[in-house]
Amino acid sequence: MTDFTATRAKFQLPEGVIYLDGNSLGPLMKSTPERVARMMGDEWGEMLITGWNRAGWMAAPARLGDRIARLIGAAEGTVVLGDTLSIKVYQALAAALALRPERKVILSDDGNFPTDLYMAGGLIETLGQGHRLLTPRPEDVAAAITEEVAVVMLTEVDYRTGRLHDMAAITEKAHEAGALVIWDLAHSAGALPVDLTGCDADFAVGCTYKYLNSGPGGPAFIYAAPRHAGAMKPALAGWLGHEAPFAFDPDYRPGVGIERMRVGTPPVIQMAALDAALDVWEGVDMAAVRARSIDLSEAFIAGVEAACPALDLASPRDPARRGSQVSFRHPEGYAIMQALIARGVIGDFRAPDILRFGFTPLYIGMEDVQAAVEHLRAVMDGGLWDRAECRTRAAVT
Ligand SMILES: *Cc1c(COP(=O)(O)O)cnc(C)c1O
Repeated sequence: MTDFTATRAKFQLPEGVIYLDGNSLGPLMKSTPERVARMMGDEWGEMLITGWNRAGWMAAPARLGDRIARLIGAAEGTVVLGDTLSIKVYQALAAALALRPERKVILSDDGNFPTDLYMAGGLIETLGQGHRLLTPRPEDVAAAITEEVAVVMLTEVDYRTGRLHDMAAITEKAHEAGALVIWDLAHSAGALPVDLTGCDADFAVGCTYKYLNSGPGGPAFIYAAPRHAGAMKPALAGWLGHEAPFAFDPDYRPGVGIERMRVGTPPVIQMAALDAALDVWEGVDMAAVRARSIDLSEAFIAGVEAACPALDLASPRDPARRGSQVSFRHPEGYAIMQALIARGVIGDFRAPDILRFGFTPLYIGMEDVQAAVEHLRAVMDGGLWDRAECRTRAAVT
């Protein structure tokens, strides 16, 4: 039994705020400041450079990788932390393409997060081998898998609409066609059950600052199936991905397995925050998180559709085809979201017209959903969004 009252008590949420944006930046856990302070005072402060050995900083990317592995159905020793997700996308794609040298097509979809597509475009230019990036609509991806495809690179949950790909079916279809698959789990890890081993995925990447609550700029993770670990090339051949970094060998030799996907010095302070944040998953059943997330999002959709007929559901109606977020469309979506945030209900906006709401059962309950619906009703009924200060766009939306 997962006790969501107990998990909620572990988060430090500001008074009067209903936080429906944990899909974009997870909130602070109460234990995190103390853990980070300990890292700074007892480790950095006291141990200085000896902390790399004595406090285990150098081993932390793999140790934390193992903690995340449990949440995404990966075996021990197959996940490592470091860098940002954009970098990890680049590394996974470069490694996968090198394993299919005779093929030139990268298949993604037109709902994928721009950085994933930009990284693919940049890599194609750097390689200069005539690769092509295809981005059909998400619903057309399965049919576009042919024997020309080297790599299928998808984000499981669409960041705008919450649309969920069928990871098992697409991976199977890709493998039948001889292609490899990279899953971006940015909106999956910590949001719903993921079974990389069961789906036989080739590579996966994801971030820790969304549903895993590591804080802004927290390190990303990368997974490679054990069958690829010995053959894959890391693309960014950094010294900490070397087999023996402290041999200071002028020639690069890839490290053992997933360790070769490390690049440079890991962000030790941010890893301490992640380590603290991962404690909340002890005793949490991901199937229970998923069931509760569906209850919350179904209640939100029903409430909003009854209270705010001007908003159109942009997410799939079938909860089995959604991740843990719900999106609505409105031409004035930005201003509506600003008016809502002014009332303490925090979601976000994605251009051109998407209002996005994340449901995170670890700290959001049914009473929050009902209150959020009532605030949205007040904003819409009162036209509270229709003022200049709601329309002024900030740098981050
Ligand atoms: C959030 C997100 C990113 C962010 O990449 P960073 O390098 O961490 O800024 C990338 N891809 C997807 C699919 C995302 O949802």
